Amino acid sequence: MTASDGAYALRYAYRTESFKGEHFHGYASDCHDRWPIDYYTWVIVQDGVPYVFDAGFTREEAERRGARTYLGSPVELLEKLGFAPADVPVLVLSHLHYDHTGHLSCYPNARIFVQASELEFWQGPYSRRGAYVHLRPHEDLLALRKLVDEGRVELLEGDAEIAPGITVHRVGGHTAGTQVMRVETAEGPLVLASDASHFYANFEEDRPYGAVHQLDLMYAAFDILFELAGEEGVIVPGHDPRVPERHQPLSDDPRIIRLRVPRAEVS
Ligand SMILES: [Zn+2]
Repeated sequence: MTASDGAYALRYAYRTESFKGEHFHGYASDCHDRWPIDYYTWVIVQDGVPYVFDAGFTREEAERRGARTYLGSPVELLEKLGFAPADVPVLVLSHLHYDHTGHLSCYPNARIFVQASELEFWQGPYSRRGAYVHLRPHEDLLALRKLVDEGRVELLEGDAEIAPGITVHRVGGHTAGTQVMRVETAEGPLVLASDASHFYANFEEDRPYGAVHQLDLMYAAFDILFELAGEEGVIVPGHDPRVPERHQPLSDDPRIIRLRVPRAEVS
């Protein structure tokens, strides 16, 4: 099949051995209330062209880290949607944590969009320090550096339109240069938060995530998500297992979830 125009979340992995203490800022780290996490990337199909948001981690990375159940690579799921990686003209990286940066070399024709401040941070000395190093994608950064040298990477300095009706917005907070994506649809805006809000509980209950680069900007990011969505829009968090409940998994492959913007009620 070739997927029709629209936005899709690709659920490529999950982890159930996962706890509140690691996911919410200020929560005791020895809190062992279970809080499962899913891993997604996203594809926007517009006029038959696939735009990819985030790159996920590889099966090898999942095995290295353990505890993660790997459902299929984001590249494989893109192919299930009917596209080859060579069809992808744009790959946007929300930020440079290991679970967003695998498979960079799999998209031979893509221009890669990342915030300059994000790359600068991960190339700098603090990214190798205690609270950061376990999230640093050492090998993927080398691959990204190579793509920069080949002239394939756009280093953004703030907000940008990367295709008609598809914009990215730098929010920071979770990392130095975290960016989110807004997609105009006929029904209203769809806002892909990625890790500006891992879970619905982050933006809906104003509760920051556990891995924080700058706390005030993480709160500000919630405000920006609401602004970008407006009254009619929908915000999709980056790691919430409840995304399939609020949207529409494909009947023949539930790893692929069609994202829907409900049209606002006309009163
Ligand atoms: Zn993440």
